[in-house]
Amino acid sequence: MRIGILGGGQLARMLALAGYPLGLEFSVLEPAADACALPLTRPVRSAYDDPAGLTQLAEACDRVTYEFENVPADAVAWLEQRVEVRPSPAALAVARDRLHEKRLFQEQGIGTAPFAPVDGPEDLERALASVGLPAILKTRTLGYDGKGQVVLNEGDEPAAAWKRIGGVPAILEGFVPFRREVSLISVRDANGTCRFYPLSENTHRDGILRLSLSRPEDPLQDQAETLARRVLEALDYVGVLAIEFFDLDGRLLANEMAPRVHNSGHWTIEGAVTSQFENHLRAVADLPLGETTPLGHAAMVNLIGAAPPTPDLLRIPGLHLHLYGKAPRPGRKIGHLTLVEETPERLQTRLAQVLERAPEVAW
Ligand code: AMP
Repeated sequence: MRIGILGGGQLARMLALAGYPLGLEFSVLEPAADACALPLTRPVRSAYDDPAGLTQLAEACDRVTYEFENVPADAVAWLEQRVEVRPSPAALAVARDRLHEKRLFQEQGIGTAPFAPVDGPEDLERALASVGLPAILKTRTLGYDGKGQVVLNEGDEPAAAWKRIGGVPAILEGFVPFRREVSLISVRDANGTCRFYPLSENTHRDGILRLSLSRPEDPLQDQAETLARRVLEALDYVGVLAIEFFDLDGRLLANEMAPRVHNSGHWTIEGAVTSQFENHLRAVADLPLGETTPLGHAAMVNLIGAAPPTPDLLRIPGLHLHLYGKAPRPGRKIGHLTLVEETPERLQTRLAQVLERAPEVAW
């Protein structure tokens, strides 16, 4: 089966790497000449909203999926008339807008931070009165890796904050004093079968994910699965869905979701029987879902801005290195490494070795 992917970055690259052994073929629609999935796939170099590029993609594939949620909605609607798009454009429309996302969580009885829409500066006072301080003002769309967000504390000027995020439609969220951030990677096929990976426990710095630890026996696993299943079923979802949660003293509050494979699930490549990439493709291509059983305790460390010398990393026993073929640039994810060990203690020992050899990857 021929799979078309909107977006040609590292997620598309890892999808292709997972899909070739299954006999799948890949085309990607991507405007940038140096995108890192291009050398591994049949590229369609075009803007996402260029009818010629979209036509070429639609003709080159049997299914379309995406590696990021900011694809223009019109382009996806156009494609849907010609080829099956998974996850559905409706799921994409929810996930690309923080307000729609939060409302869906609310409708499904899933807790969130208190929030209020802010369409203009005149909404700010009302929003602040209902949400309280401290709070975070976030753009409704196009935010990622902490971009498009401003924290508001007592004494800050709300109108200035709104200007700083670009004066676009936003939501104000109450600040959650969470104990941890966790995410659940789940997958659902077209028959409604759902599978869930163990929770990932995530550490961010400067709004960017640095470290994900798999949590094979997390006490909040059942709670997370119950909540994710509601979202999967409400959207009649097909593919991998990632939901990020705040753990507020044992109660999970949903922060956001991604209708695609997710950085906090990269450890599944070596740390689970079937990776998130393969399971996404299995769902998209109507193949039976694979086991999500963990193969130990896993850690994934992002390589951000630059990668330490490869030999230094590969000297660490059991380390798996993934370089994406991207030019180093500050703040840019250019690769990741994964460790899988039998016990959390052995995993910590290996992580300490990573820090010794490559302190620049510290989380
Ligand atoms: P987001 O883009 O929504 O994932 O936000 C990026 C990061 O900012 C999250 O991973 C959290 O560490 C932090 N953050 C976002 N929203 C909140 C909130 N309502 N309360 C506390 N921290 C938050």
